[in-house]
Amino acid sequence: ASASPDAPIRMRSYNLSASSPAERATYLRRPVLNSGEMINKVKPIVDSVRTRGDEALLELTAKFDKAQMDSTVIFPPFSPESMKIDDSVRKAIDIAYSNVHKFHAAQDEKNTLIVETMPGVICSRFSRPIARVGLYVPGGTAILPSTALMLGAPAQVAGCKEIVIATPPRPDGSISPEVMYVAQLVGASAILKAGGAQAVAALAYGTKTVPKVDKIFGPGNQWVTAAKMLVQNDTDALVSIDMPAGPSEVLVIADSTCKPGFVAADLLSQAEHGVDSQVVLVTVNLSEEEISAIEKEVDTQARALPRVDIIRESISKSLIIKTSSAEEAIEFSNDYAPEHLILHLKDASAKVPLVQNAGSVFVGPYSPESCGDYASGTNHTLPTNGYARQFSGVNTQSFQKHITSQEVTADGLKSLGPVVATLADCEGLGAHANAVRIRLRDMA
Ligand code: NAD
Repeated sequence: ASASPDAPIRMRSYNLSASSPAERATYLRRPVLNSGEMINKVKPIVDSVRTRGDEALLELTAKFDKAQMDSTVIFPPFSPESMKIDDSVRKAIDIAYSNVHKFHAAQDEKNTLIVETMPGVICSRFSRPIARVGLYVPGGTAILPSTALMLGAPAQVAGCKEIVIATPPRPDGSISPEVMYVAQLVGASAILKAGGAQAVAALAYGTKTVPKVDKIFGPGNQWVTAAKMLVQNDTDALVSIDMPAGPSEVLVIADSTCKPGFVAADLLSQAEHGVDSQVVLVTVNLSEEEISAIEKEVDTQARALPRVDIIRESISKSLIIKTSSAEEAIEFSNDYAPEHLILHLKDASAKVPLVQNAGSVFVGPYSPESCGDYASGTNHTLPTNGYARQFSGVNTQSFQKHITSQEVTADGLKSLGPVVATLADCEGLGAHANAVRIRLRDMA
C-alpha cells in the first residue's frame, strides 16, 4: 500500500561511520529475487513452445498479449508504413544510433593478436561474430526503441549474420513503429512478435518459423529473466545469455560542490523505472542543511513527474548514506557495485581511477545517466544486483567470441616438444607424449 499523497517523498538516511558491519551489509543488499519459484512458473511455458512450436507461441501470445495473429515472425524489407515515426524522433534516433555505433565500432578488435612465446612457437587470437543472436526488447508496459538500439548496434558492428529482435506485439498484432525503425537501422534479419518466456523459448529452440539463435540478450520482466536462466542451462538449446538481470539501480556520490537539483533529478530518473528500482545517495561531508536541500528537491521534483506513484514507492525504499570523504564513499560504492554510478564531486574525473565495481560511470555535473541510457554512445544494458563485480555491460565483444590458434615450426617443436612430453608423462597421458615424440623422431 502506498503512503498518502501528502506524506513527504523521502529516502532513509544512515551515517556510515556510526553503522555496525551488519548494518553496513544491509545497505548493500538488493531485494531478494525468488528465481527458483519463477523458473518453476516459466517451465511449462518454455516446454510448450519447445514441443509445440508456433502453435504454442500463437496461443500464448493471444493469452498474454491479447494479440490474435496467424504468424509471429516478420522479415525485411519492413513496410514504410510500419516504420512511420515523428520527424524529431527519427532525427534523435539517428544521432543516438550514430554515437552508439561509433563507440561500439571502436571496441571491435579487428587486429589478430600474435605472440611468439618461444622461437618458432607462434600463438594467435582472433575474434569471430556469434552467428545468430536474439535481442529481447521489452514491450509490456512501454515502448523501448532505446533497448533495440543498444542491443542492435553492437550486434551489427560485431558482424552477427542473423539478428532476431523479439518484442511483444500490441493487441492489433503490430510493433511500435519506433522499434521497427531501429530494427531496420541495425539490420535486423527477423522480428519475432512475441514476449515473455514464450519469446525466449522460441529464440532458444527455434520453431518452424522462428530462427533459432546462439545467444539471447536483453532486459525484461521476471518471466523473461527466468526463461533466459532456464534455457541457458538446457544443453538441447545450446544457447547462452548476456547476463543475469535484476531491477535497475543508481548510486550517486555528492559533495558540497553538487547542485541539489541535479542530484535529485538523477535520483528520480532512476526511481521512475519501477517500484523495485534501487536508488542510493552517498553524501561526502554534507551538512544537514545541504542534505535537506537535496531531499526538498527530491520531494518537489517528484510531485511534478508523471510517474510519481512509482517514485513514491521506490524512493521510500531508497537510502542516503552519509560519509566523510570521497574515498570512503567510493569504497562503499565499490562494495555495492552499482549498475550506474554518478559522481557529483569536485574533480570528479580524478576520482574515476578509484572505481573498481560499476556498470557505467557518469562523471561530473553535466553527465546525467539519461545520456548513457539513450544517446552518448555507451551501452545501457548493464549488470545489476551487484554483478558489476564480475560482469561487464553489453559491448561489442558480447557479440563475438575469440578463437586461439598456434603454429609451431620444426625448430619450435624441437624446443617445445620435450617440455610437452615431460608434462604428458607426468600426467600419465602416453598418447599425448607420443604425438610429440613421433615427430621429434621423424625429424632426427
Ligand atoms: P516485458 O516485455 O518484459 O514482458 C511482457 C511479457 O511478459 C508479456 O508478453 C507476457 O508474455 C509476459 N507476462 C506478463 N505477465 C505474465 C504472466 N502472468 N504469466 C506469463 N507471462 C506473463 O515487458 P514488461 O512487463 O513491461 O517489463 C519490462 C521490464 O524490463 C521491466 O522490469 C523493466 O524494468 C525492464 N527494463 C530494463 C531495462 C534495463 O536496461 N535494465 C530497460 C528497459 C526495461
